[in-house]
Amino acid sequence: MLQLIEKGNFLSLSRTQPSLFSSPLSFSLDNGTYVTVTAPGIISFHPQTPPKHKKFIVLSCGVHGNETAPIEICDDMVQQILTGTLALSHPVLFLFGNLPAMDIGERFVEENMNRLFSGAHSAGEGCVNDERKRAKALEDAVSNFYDDASNQDTKYHYDLHTAIRASKNEKFAVYPYLHERKHSRSQLAFLHACGVSTILLSESATTTFSYYSSHQHGAHAFTVELGKVKPFGQNDMSRFEQARQAFIALVSLDDYAPDISLDSLDIYRVNQVINKHKEDFTLHFADDTPNFMDYAKGTCLASESGAEYVAQQDGEAIVFPNANVEIGQRALLTVVPTTLEESDV
Ligand code: ZN
Repeated sequence: MLQLIEKGNFLSLSRTQPSLFSSPLSFSLDNGTYVTVTAPGIISFHPQTPPKHKKFIVLSCGVHGNETAPIEICDDMVQQILTGTLALSHPVLFLFGNLPAMDIGERFVEENMNRLFSGAHSAGEGCVNDERKRAKALEDAVSNFYDDASNQDTKYHYDLHTAIRASKNEKFAVYPYLHERKHSRSQLAFLHACGVSTILLSESATTTFSYYSSHQHGAHAFTVELGKVKPFGQNDMSRFEQARQAFIALVSLDDYAPDISLDSLDIYRVNQVINKHKEDFTLHFADDTPNFMDYAKGTCLASESGAEYVAQQDGEAIVFPNANVEIGQRALLTVVPTTLEESDV
């Protein structure tokens, strides 16, 4: 415990000595912040004197183990909080998602964890592998954390990632499908302050972590893609500085609400979700084509036996292409420009 408070090396201890955290533990820091560790990689902080309207903030990273820059940002923040150099205004839960995948420098060990939320971890063959068990544990951690929020408090969840491929729009966020709820302009302003100026509005239920918190708990939740995948220690952290500063402001100020014009935001909606049905599924663009590359109407984007997938309108752009997914999984999304509705708040 002393080592944890002196050095703040929670992630490193979680990865190298997970047995330290095999049973839950809590303690207080000198500044009164109450710390709870419920499992390796799962740590929450409650400041002694939060403001009247509390923000319950979840910052998750490493749901894909090789997406290192957000892991380094969260690791630094946890270290600063534990060692007393960052004082919180609001309760914050940090989740380091897939520790075994981090150790092998891979996206996942057996299964893409960001398809295992909202109960998918227990569907089909059940909660049979470590990634399914972990997805359930992460859901439980979020539920327990939000349980302490009153009706006047607000819930947030930023699930931080980096993309496999380069992107025409380096930083972008996926806004989960809100059903009857309205999009939040102040959240888009916050993301803009993070350096995220491209927003993808999802229009269907899914099994991602951010959709879980959004739909299950009514949180302002986003999948935030902060740049490109690089190994630990090889990130140019200056490219993530804006995001780091914005997250620090969010957790440490009573009411951080950046007043930023949304005029320069690029907002897209999903037009096609293309799943792989056959082994011979092929993408019809180069491997290094960046996310958000757009095409003219009629361009063939992908094909497989018995099917051709074409751009249905001019300016239709590709996101998250991956021909190597399992049969039945999503191999490509296409998106088209859109705008917020007048009724969005
Ligand atoms: Zn990811």
